[in-house]
Amino acid sequence: MSGFKSHILGNFLIDILVVTGLFYLSDLFNLVFLKNYIYDPEKMITLISISFIFSIFPDIDTNSHAQKIFYFIFLLVYLYFFFKGEYKTVAILGLFGFLPVLSKHRSWTHSKMAAILICSLFLFLPYLFPNISKADSICYFIASLVGYFNHLIIDGIFFR
Ligand SMILES: [Zn+2]
Repeated sequence: MSGFKSHILGNFLIDILVVTGLFYLSDLFNLVFLKNYIYDPEKMITLISISFIFSIFPDIDTNSHAQKIFYFIFLLVYLYFFFKGEYKTVAILGLFGFLPVLSKHRSWTHSKMAAILICSLFLFLPYLFPNISKADSICYFIASLVGYFNHLIIDGIFFR
């Protein structure tokens, strides 16, 4: 199985485990906050999408399916901010967007520190976009970490 397929399958399995665990926990402890997430299909799709994107993200440093998918999504986001007239965001995206392709395969994008730093960018979203709540940003952060660490585990890097 190719690296890409094993990352997709691995992420699919870990997402099923995490979602099942969250269902169980929310029922066991009657966690209303968690239930609001689990029973809201839009929120669940968002979290699973974030987890999926971050499960393939580390491989954008090499010519791969992950790189093509990531830069396609990146282009859409880039154009969105461009046509919205938010040129500061466009400049920041442009600056950081090409950094992964300048590095060797399995270098900084495959480190635990990069996982934590990149995923923690979600925690700043409520300060940039007031319509995103802090609770949502924490959930995005956790979903991205699940996907990213899942990639590092499958690549055999996480436990090094
Ligand atoms: Zn990898």
